[in-house]
Amino acid sequence: MTATYITTTLPYVNARPHVGHALELVQADVLARYHRGRGDAVRFQAGTDDNSLKNVLAAGAAGAGVREFVDRNAEAFGALGGALSLSVDDFIRTSRDPRHRPGVEAFWRACSADLYRQRYTGLYCIGCEQFYTPAELHYGFCPEHETRPEPVSEENWFFRLSRYAAPLRAAITAGRLLIEPAGRRNEVLALIDGGLADFSVSRPAARAGGWGIPVPGDPGQVVYVWFDALCNYVTALGYGQARNEAYRRWWAGPGNRVHLLGKGVLRFHAVCWPAMLLASGQQLPTAIFVHDYLTAGGRKISKSGAGAAGPGRGALEPAALAAEYGADAVRWWLLREVPRVGDADFTVERLVARADDELANGLGNLVNRVVAMISRYRAGRIPVTAAVPPGGEDLDAAIRQAGDRVGAALAGFDFRQATAAVWGIADEANRFVNRVRPWDLAKADPAGRLDAVLYLLARACAAVGRELAPFLPDAAARVTAQCTPGDDGRLPDPRPVFRRLSAPAGLRVEQPQQDQQDQGADDRPDDPDRVEAPPNRDETARP
Ligand SMILES: [Zn+2]
Repeated sequence: MTATYITTTLPYVNARPHVGHALELVQADVLARYHRGRGDAVRFQAGTDDNSLKNVLAAGAAGAGVREFVDRNAEAFGALGGALSLSVDDFIRTSRDPRHRPGVEAFWRACSADLYRQRYTGLYCIGCEQFYTPAELHYGFCPEHETRPEPVSEENWFFRLSRYAAPLRAAITAGRLLIEPAGRRNEVLALIDGGLADFSVSRPAARAGGWGIPVPGDPGQVVYVWFDALCNYVTALGYGQARNEAYRRWWAGPGNRVHLLGKGVLRFHAVCWPAMLLASGQQLPTAIFVHDYLTAGGRKISKSGAGAAGPGRGALEPAALAAEYGADAVRWWLLREVPRVGDADFTVERLVARADDELANGLGNLVNRVVAMISRYRAGRIPVTAAVPPGGEDLDAAIRQAGDRVGAALAGFDFRQATAAVWGIADEANRFVNRVRPWDLAKADPAGRLDAVLYLLARACAAVGRELAPFLPDAAARVTAQCTPGDDGRLPDPRPVFRRLSAPAGLRVEQPQQDQQDQGADDRPDDPDRVEAPPNRDETARP
């Protein structure tokens, strides 16, 4: 049984979560669920970076105590697990978790041969919590924050990153440390080839407001938040503690160690962190997947800046989106529309359109019409036949190939392609229904084709339920329940598995229902078995 350890980055908690955070969590959850479904042992870890100087500054700006402020925001990040149906196994908070501080101290000591104290003067971006060289700035501004970094001169501990260029390069080029997509791998190799400067790994405790982990043996300094935060990937496993079975299993063993992260923190994860691991005598991660960013309505999503408390902010909160539109719709948008390479623009309209088109009209309509037809024509019993009906070859192939296509796509972290394989079954099945017109076969079927047609369609629905499970666990369970015969051998009565989102609650009484059906690509007026999900929110959304 392969052990697969999957981590997301720890977000700062200087504000509440936004939809951009949901992307990485949902991607990681899909991988975790997929590997569990294959029988792998999986540990999925998320958490929050509490010890950031940014949190201290944001708390001050909000007129709140740091502890109270950090706890409140961290709680909102923790709550995403339930809101988005995430299968998180472990959630670490760097300021509160008793495993973290001793682990960071042990990590620091293990790196001591590569640590030295030195005065440093440089340009520092508080937003990034890092020094920049003038060449790294865009016209004097931070490339991430578009703010002007402050000149800072102070005495710090430094980590001898320069020693690790050759071993890092070797690990990446040999594929021991996989970096996807390839463009990001090339970016890291270019960074290494450009020369790696030692980097500062501590801050004067006074400037950090006393927040953070004191440097072992030098309490006037606190461990730099990046060094501190990166350690979470092993401190949560008990690194540096006497009893560390989890560490031995998930990090020191032969399995997969997969980090998911955004492009803005690539350097820390693909250069600094592996060097820290080498310095402390530990294994490297096996894979790093780098996602790009979401924009919202064409604008960069800023956590600390625009809309932190202003109007419109709630529209970007993933928990609020899930409460309004359902976790399935939020997850589906993130997985279906965010490309493997390149930024994606989020709007509520796009989320609604995608969910209505593909979930309510596509997948939901398919499941409902198939269950309704089996109920009407075969008293709810799935007719089992060996033959694929004429014209059903493409659908049969889509069903049989979906599992392999999902696996291949996820091996390359391509969530859009993976969901396309599942969607392809429903799309093909709906076209098949419209082509063979089972309702006509039910009237006159001299060749006895209806059984084969219904069986193929039942297989398609079962395959959708099975293959959808890593992506939309809640919806997949509803689909599977609809397609599973009960003790009496009959399918349950057809009920909607997805609700339509585009008509707001209350509109239904004022608007004839057929007006709300007219956008469905698969609508056929002569299909008597179409079951329409109710447009208003009701208990059928989550049976
Ligand atoms: Zn910055």
